[in-house]
Amino acid sequence: MDNGAARTAQPVIVAIDGPSGTGKSSTSKAVAAQLGLSYLDTGAQYRAITWWMVTNGTDIDDPTAIAAVAGKPEIVSGTDPAQPTITVDGVDVSGPIRTQEVTAKVSAVSAVPEVRARITELQRSLAAAAENGMVVGGRDIGPPVLPDAALKISLPAPAEARAARRSGELKGSDLHSTREALIKRDAADSSRKTSPLAKADDAVEVDTTDLTLPQVIECVVTLVEEKRAGK
Ligand code: C5P
Repeated sequence: MDNGAARTAQPVIVAIDGPSGTGKSSTSKAVAAQLGLSYLDTGAQYRAITWWMVTNGTDIDDPTAIAAVAGKPEIVSGTDPAQPTITVDGVDVSGPIRTQEVTAKVSAVSAVPEVRARITELQRSLAAAAENGMVVGGRDIGPPVLPDAALKISLPAPAEARAARRSGELKGSDLHSTREALIKRDAADSSRKTSPLAKADDAVEVDTTDLTLPQVIECVVTLVEEKRAGK
């Protein structure tokens, strides 16, 4: 692998936004590794706070109850793309945040403004602390979390292609129910009042439908390098 750290001149923030199943996390991680940048999976942060609420018996149907405890858990993200980590109050939750229960509840938790404010603050301080810069994957990173990101990339793909990718990842799940769950979560994430999933006006759109993961990675790396070269 190319050691990009050597040619990292100025810190660069790359925001990669898109719904689930576009290969966003794999792309962000690989691009960060190739270019010597830090990496942040913002979905994992929302999943982590959701995991804490589920574990502590917070009523997920009650936004006021969620808001009241949003400041309690300590969420720490390790941003090395070779080994990203996530802990809540010192507990490694990288496995538990991927359960169906957390996946089914994360949209409701992440729609609460107090949760978004808390996680946004964490994201901004991690981005500011990243020496070489950071690739940040999410849904609302371009605007409003990091509006000054040097490069904003939007990764759209139809639900069919995304569901096929996700059910390949989740062994034992069937395509139809994966597609339905994904459409439901997209609809909730896109219609919430605070920071709905939206494309930045100055985002570069990379349609992943007919591209392999290595092709998407190559495309994004080229975009970052062009940006750095001032093209
Ligand atoms: O990316 P992932 O599917 O892990 O995200 C899980 C959930 O976290 C999304 O469905 C969404 O509700 C929330 N999320 C968000 N804003 C982000 C990233 C994720 O609201 N920047």
